[in-house]
Amino acid sequence: MYEDNELIQLSALQHFLFCPRQCALIHLEQIWEDNIYTIEGQLLHKRAHSGKIERRPEKHTEYGMPIRSLTLGLSGKTDAVEYGIDGHIHVVEYKRGKPKKGREDEVQLCAQALCIEEMKKVKISEGYLYYGKVKRRRTVLFDDELRKLTITTAKRLHAFIKEEKTPPAKYNETKCPRCSLLSLCLPKILSKTKTVQKYYDKLFFKDEECTS
Ligand code: SF4
Repeated sequence: MYEDNELIQLSALQHFLFCPRQCALIHLEQIWEDNIYTIEGQLLHKRAHSGKIERRPEKHTEYGMPIRSLTLGLSGKTDAVEYGIDGHIHVVEYKRGKPKKGREDEVQLCAQALCIEEMKKVKISEGYLYYGKVKRRRTVLFDDELRKLTITTAKRLHAFIKEEKTPPAKYNETKCPRCSLLSLCLPKILSKTKTVQKYYDKLFFKDEECTS
């Protein structure tokens, strides 16, 4: 069990699975830069983080519910939690893009469900990922495999954050072009130079060498 001061932001799970360097830059070095994708994401999440409760005959929906799990060592907010009249609880996460090849979104959603299960002593069997680009929600089953993957990823994330080491930049042609930190991470340049120091030496002392 983790203590309150050891909890890591739940979104770090998704960052870690997407790219460990992105996770370290955001959660260890507190580096962030908005771009068109992050602004679209913020607009999509505006209602989700309102903290409101919407009541309809067949279900009610709670937006922006604070959650945490001392077992996983994670805390955050859900986008939406739906309570059906049949007793089912569904957790919903909004994403601006389209479904991804990796399982990072599913793991993030499952972690939210595990937090709610721990807090409310309930069982949540499935949730939804809503993708803004395709305007569709996809059902995600919280089966044993996804639960295990989520728990293992949370443990690996804690070990990674504890180590306090930002991995070196390595350009990935699928991930880097859509990464919000591309202009700060400089993967194309830094993966060719062994260290940041060497990169800056090359940048600033090249001229001196030429003129001396
Ligand atoms: S630009 Fe690429 S290497 Fe750098 S943090 Fe983003 S995904 Fe990772």
